[in-house]
Amino acid sequence: MTSTCTQAADEFIARLSPRFIDLSDQIWRLAELRYEEFTSAQLHVRMLEAEGFTVTSGVAGIPTAFVAEAGSGGPVIGILGEYDALSGMSQEAGALSCAPSGEIVNGNGHGCGHHLLGTAAHLAAAAVKDHLERTGQGGTVRFYGCPAEEGGSGKTFMARAGLFDDLDAALSWHPHMYTGIFPGQSLANVQAYFRFRGKAAHAADSPHLGRSALDAVELMNVGVNFLREHMPSDSRVHYAITNAGGMSPNVVQAYAEVLYLVRAPRNELAAVLYERVKNVARGAALMTDCQMDVVFDKACSNLLENTVLNTLVHRHLQAVGAPPADEADTRLAAAYQQTLTAEHLESAGRTLGQSWRDPKPLFDHIRPYLPGQQDAIYGSTDVGDVSWITPTAQCFTACYAFGTAPHSWQWVAQGKSPLAHKGMLQAARTLAGCAIELLGSPDLLVRAQAELQERRGGKPYVCPIPDDVALPFQR
Ligand SMILES: [Zn+2]
Repeated sequence: MTSTCTQAADEFIARLSPRFIDLSDQIWRLAELRYEEFTSAQLHVRMLEAEGFTVTSGVAGIPTAFVAEAGSGGPVIGILGEYDALSGMSQEAGALSCAPSGEIVNGNGHGCGHHLLGTAAHLAAAAVKDHLERTGQGGTVRFYGCPAEEGGSGKTFMARAGLFDDLDAALSWHPHMYTGIFPGQSLANVQAYFRFRGKAAHAADSPHLGRSALDAVELMNVGVNFLREHMPSDSRVHYAITNAGGMSPNVVQAYAEVLYLVRAPRNELAAVLYERVKNVARGAALMTDCQMDVVFDKACSNLLENTVLNTLVHRHLQAVGAPPADEADTRLAAAYQQTLTAEHLESAGRTLGQSWRDPKPLFDHIRPYLPGQQDAIYGSTDVGDVSWITPTAQCFTACYAFGTAPHSWQWVAQGKSPLAHKGMLQAARTLAGCAIELLGSPDLLVRAQAELQERRGGKPYVCPIPDDVALPFQR
């Protein structure tokens, strides 16, 4: 039953692939930033409506977020898609050196491949809908249009609105330089602005009348740098001075602002570390006689691995196989590898450990999956919040030359390559196959849910963004 269904879904995906390749290329060209993905979201929505999905736009109060649903009754399987780009990353498609694209007018670029991510997720959902209609099987497939993954915690705001609460499982993927299961852990984070207000004065004539907000920012940073020695390991704290108080050294700076990003392996550790950073800021304000305000910006949860679902996804990845690269793909990948340093390649190889000793231009197999022994990523993803609410699994497929780093010009340049399209279609096949199997496997969903309960340690999901924090574009 499953293999016949998977075969029918594969044929459906093959038939629709030209239209979806075109969609991903259009979104690549649009390169819209977080919460401004108006046209990209609209392209998805128009196609979903034409495909017969019931679409709700503007969910969670976010104009570029939407949910498309087909089928009826349970189980409900969610497939997550993204479409946001990165600022300042415009790059000519196919160019072998760093050069802004003539096609992209806004200077942005798809440095994380979310044009492929959202498109494959959409195509997989369409294939599952086709399966439900063809077989008359019960169950619901839901495609989530998730904006602002890059620095906007779009899914966390969607999670706060309860949009994932009735899911039985969620699936997603990410384009990458190898094919395999997504790392088992990511860091939770909290981001907040610290705004200091002092008193302006002539810095030479009347320094005693001034209270420097810039001093407060500097002392806060020094304090946090001392704090680093006493943080739990695998925590991270980053900052950017977003307002240094002006360009005049002969004026005592009356206002200054610093943006902090605090990361830790679990939500509760991130919350504690964030409180300690706030205490340092209070100390800096006291030392400099300044007023201080904290403005909570956003947060996201750490990822909870689900080995039951990952094992299923890995089995489907193996059945689908690595993206079918030909000689031209290998040649192009070799040309991109030439633009990378030996250090890049060595670092990429080290990530994969035993499974990839020889950095060939293309990763041509499926990385083995060892449940519970996956590597961790030290960045964060808002898929983490979904993984706390419902069993969630993600895979990677090889869309880029081996060694290419996310958020690099090479990643943008390869975003419309035949290999990127092949990787995207492999992901769609894998996600569709998994969703179809899950719809007919209540026992698998029960086991996945039991694992989630265990990993949550009996605790409910608490959204790390408090209820009173407005959406970033409303501030
Ligand atoms: Zn990404």
